[in-house]
Amino acid sequence: MIATAGTAPLSRSAELQDRLTALSIEFGNALAAKVKEIRRVWSLVPAAPSADEARGALVEIHDIVHTLAGSGKSFGYPLISKTAAPLDGLFRLVTEQSQHLTREEIAQIEVLIQSLEEAICAPRESISLDDVADMPTESTEHSDATIVLLLTGPDDSETPALQDPLAGFGYRCHVVRNESDIPPEIARGSPGILFADISVTDAHLKLARKTPALSHLPLILVSARAGFEERLKAVKCGAAVFLPKPFDLEDLVDRLGSLDESKYERPYRVVIAEDDGPLASFYQLTLEHAGMETRIVHRPSKLLDTLSGFDPDLIIMDLYMPECTGLDLAQIVRQFPAYTTVPILFLSTENRLDLQLRARHLGADDFLPKPLQPGQLISAITSRANRYRDLKKLTDRDSLTGLLNHTNILRNLEREMSVASRTQAPVAFAMIDIDHFKSVNDTYGHSVGDQVILRVTHLIRNRLRRVDYVGRYGGEEFAVVMPNTDADAAQEVMNKLREAARELEHKADQKTFHVTFSCGVATYPQYKTPLEVAEAADQALYKAKHAGRNQVMIAD
Ligand code: GH3
Ligand code: MG
Ligand code: MG
Repeated sequence: MIATAGTAPLSRSAELQDRLTALSIEFGNALAAKVKEIRRVWSLVPAAPSADEARGALVEIHDIVHTLAGSGKSFGYPLISKTAAPLDGLFRLVTEQSQHLTREEIAQIEVLIQSLEEAICAPRESISLDDVADMPTESTEHSDATIVLLLTGPDDSETPALQDPLAGFGYRCHVVRNESDIPPEIARGSPGILFADISVTDAHLKLARKTPALSHLPLILVSARAGFEERLKAVKCGAAVFLPKPFDLEDLVDRLGSLDESKYERPYRVVIAEDDGPLASFYQLTLEHAGMETRIVHRPSKLLDTLSGFDPDLIIMDLYMPECTGLDLAQIVRQFPAYTTVPILFLSTENRLDLQLRARHLGADDFLPKPLQPGQLISAITSRANRYRDLKKLTDRDSLTGLLNHTNILRNLEREMSVASRTQAPVAFAMIDIDHFKSVNDTYGHSVGDQVILRVTHLIRNRLRRVDYVGRYGGEEFAVVMPNTDADAAQEVMNKLREAARELEHKADQKTFHVTFSCGVATYPQYKTPLEVAEAADQALYKAKHAGRNQVMIAD
């Protein structure tokens, strides 16, 4: 799976950048007071009436220098982080192990505090979210079909002729003869796939590989000859698929479907467990700019509530928090079977190896040293969340279609309803069942039946938005969860899908045939619980069947 394409829409991007800049200014404004406080508390230490009170003062200072070390650089004050880091280390030793400060250490602390006082005068460096790798963002349109770019040479009439049949499967096609034919959506990062006959001129193939907007797109090459030479040329062009001619349209659609995989990936969901408010916001802004969804948890005791409604792909956790340490919290998370494999990433100024090893033993997946730059944070999270998703696919998805299985589609219905209950948005749930499918099996055999299921799968996935969930509910039954969609909109979408499915041409033993499906839709908040929604959709489907099939029925 690859996470690519799409950038946050410009206005949203600018808004996130503005908020980040505001955070950084706010951090800068509060710096002087913090350093002054360090100086004040430090001056009380020598005259403290008891060892306990002296220790209390040291803990207080440690809290402040710890935050400064961990966040200064992130907010555009690298010198603050650099100066506070050795103080953080020194004070940690003194406070954790009740070590007495030696003369040398006292002198060292003096010097460091003085450096910190000087460091607050350093100008704020601007921080930018722009060099960050981007994830796709959500579309609100009811279709964000992948664009297929048909690279066409002067005497190639076969390639442009694919336009209509592919449109039937939900693909938008553009015939590209030269650079000016590239649709602007592609340059803006919409998902696309390149298709070409190997006989198009080398200049055309070069166009595909050298034009920045196209260079990252997967390429399908077809060829009338399929000898070693052609296959080698395909490899050298970086083709993802080599398809000898003649090929079935269905074969092509299957290949397109597999290349299209990443389009169906939803944004990564990340929980941020961090007690420091501004730093938590910094992580949030950075991750959301990269198209991820986030939830902040400031207090460890709130983490479990957040996890249950959110189903994260990764948790980032601060090592030191009030109430309990990150290590304790990670162990609590691991007590729940549902979260035994969610990656936990510790962000910490801690660099002691023994502690890192202990954390790994207790279920941490990795340590990232604070302070972090946006780009580091994004790449660390993307790679781990990606691996987690790949693993989850093996258990959550149906093996024939790659769709979510029965349990998981319902789990997603539940989650979207819980989100909707907060945002007051509707959620639609549709159940789709292929009509008279038994007779397809009986007439053409089970494996032809499987192909029909696969083709209907491609169609459904292609025609829906990335934010919709598609599951295989049972044999020839599918279920779809559509966030932010009311009954009317759902009916319209399902009817279009139904018409497109009816048009699909299936082949067996030189014969072609068509199938239809029936569909039942129920929506939240008309039905209150996930169970009620699912049952109502099932009832509506039953009615659609009895009213003659090949239709969409809304639960009343
Ligand atoms: P209806 O219009 O009422 O839905 O009729 P139907 O024939 O589609 O419904 P029924 O539920 O009677 O039959 C569904 C058939 O689908 C029975 C089963 O053998 C077949 N089936 C279920 N899963 C698969 C599968 O994975 N592959 C194939 N080829 N057939 C399957
Ligand atoms: Mg059935
Ligand atoms: Mg059926």
